[in-house]
Amino acid sequence: MVITGGPIITLDDDRRRVEGVAIRDGRLVIVGTADEARAAIGPQTLVVDLAGRALLPAFHDAHVHPVSAGVELGQCNLNDLPTADAVLTAVARCVDAQRDRPWLIGGGFVLTAFPGGAPHRRDLDRLTGSRPAALSSSDGHTWWVNSAALRLAGITRTTPDPPAGRIERDRSGEPTGVLRESATGLVGRHVPPTSPAEHEAGLRRALVAMHQVGIVSFQEANASTDIVAAYRAVARAGGLTARVRLSLSVDPTRGPDQVDDLVAVRKAVVEPGLTAGTAKIFLDGVIEAATAALVDPYVPLPGHDAHEATPTNGLATFSDDALTALVTRLDREGFQVHMHAIGDRAVRQGLDAIEAAARANGPRDRRAHLAHVQLVAPADRARFAALGVAANIQALWAFADPFITDLTEPRLGPVRSGWLYPFASLKRAGARLVGGSDWSVTSVNPLHAIQVAVTRTPLTAPSGTPSWLPDERLDLTTALEAYTRGGAWANVEDDRSGSIAVGRFADLVVLERDPYAVPISTVHTLQVLWTLKEGREVFRAPGFRTGDGSARKPS
Ligand SMILES: [Zn+2]
Repeated sequence: MVITGGPIITLDDDRRRVEGVAIRDGRLVIVGTADEARAAIGPQTLVVDLAGRALLPAFHDAHVHPVSAGVELGQCNLNDLPTADAVLTAVARCVDAQRDRPWLIGGGFVLTAFPGGAPHRRDLDRLTGSRPAALSSSDGHTWWVNSAALRLAGITRTTPDPPAGRIERDRSGEPTGVLRESATGLVGRHVPPTSPAEHEAGLRRALVAMHQVGIVSFQEANASTDIVAAYRAVARAGGLTARVRLSLSVDPTRGPDQVDDLVAVRKAVVEPGLTAGTAKIFLDGVIEAATAALVDPYVPLPGHDAHEATPTNGLATFSDDALTALVTRLDREGFQVHMHAIGDRAVRQGLDAIEAAARANGPRDRRAHLAHVQLVAPADRARFAALGVAANIQALWAFADPFITDLTEPRLGPVRSGWLYPFASLKRAGARLVGGSDWSVTSVNPLHAIQVAVTRTPLTAPSGTPSWLPDERLDLTTALEAYTRGGAWANVEDDRSGSIAVGRFADLVVLERDPYAVPISTVHTLQVLWTLKEGREVFRAPGFRTGDGSARKPS
């Protein structure tokens, strides 16, 4: 295949633009001028004319939950509903549509639709009656359940909060139906499990959605046993159309001895395109629910729930010693460590643990990464580069939406509110940025995140809208690289993918326009027209033709 006729943005080491590429056996064999590429044309060559459209490296997603996202698409789907009324209307529709199911299960509601990030079981009870209901928030850290679900789980005013979890209660001490972090498990163990077939169907749905936005490789951010099984089954059936690295779930209630089990899983995963060399550890929760672990306490919210009366630093999942022991053991076994770290204390704990592991185990290519890095103390910024730890960013979150203005800044106060999502500061301090969507938490489309990384304004804000923390804006190239080269690094395939260079996989995406040639506020609207993984088409937009009008599929 030869591709010419439009801007080719290589994102290679020299950030070159070229005119033509040639592909053979799934790899790029020529990257250069149009004449150089055309010289390779033979009788069997598919010649693609970009007709002015842009060719870029395909996208990588370094932190995503495709199986649960795909499963959610088939449940009570509450994504993208901005108000409590809209959420409740959707719930009412689900109650009708899913009468035959014993539980009402779903998720995706945004905490900001409810005052204080706290919905109430009463609203659900009115719609569901005696049928149990459990709905997860878009970030997955909160469940909203009804009274029937609380009864089934035996949760009453006398039930203590579990370790690293919280049962929200009203002033009289009655559970409100809001469960944070590990408290979700109290109800979760009564919910009918998702079947293997549902998981596999969810994954297949998700793969289609990801290819539509140009993603060909990703890191599954939380692979529990059943999720691992879904990937393996789909891969064995020949349906795994992306390259996938699994972050195997670490159980916070078990110590380093569980690492033997993870080693066994890693060894068992032998399907093509699938690896399991990463371990995922949750260090804390989220700031909006006051469960992210902070160095200094949250600012109390006046007149809110009872637990707010005492200052809290959030919920650190591990003690320093326990985390160090666990990470050191994982590191010794050769695992890449992928940590969820939102609060400044969680970020520091993660960095400390990697530092200790490196001291204990010596130098190696460990590629640890901290995901989300929402609140980073300035003193810790330079440690990312010093330790070789990457910042796994979800750039779509970095603007002043109600999550920030209503549920985050008031809890942090003015000084710490200036430390949020410090992407440019991290970059200036030498940190490697790798990009992930965290779908289904938020949009899987990398162009959404890339635009917000540059603007720090809402996606649909007109040009000229003031940026939130403007010193933390990234330039477009840095943002694109996080979602291409960055993700390839995280998945240990940066020698094969992530940029357009001779010898690399033909992992390519055609965009309808050159993203550098349009107003930055419109980058999120650019359509992906064609996605190639290793030279094979995995997505083609309806109506997109490969130049010569032939229906031949690339080989
Ligand atoms: Zn996640």
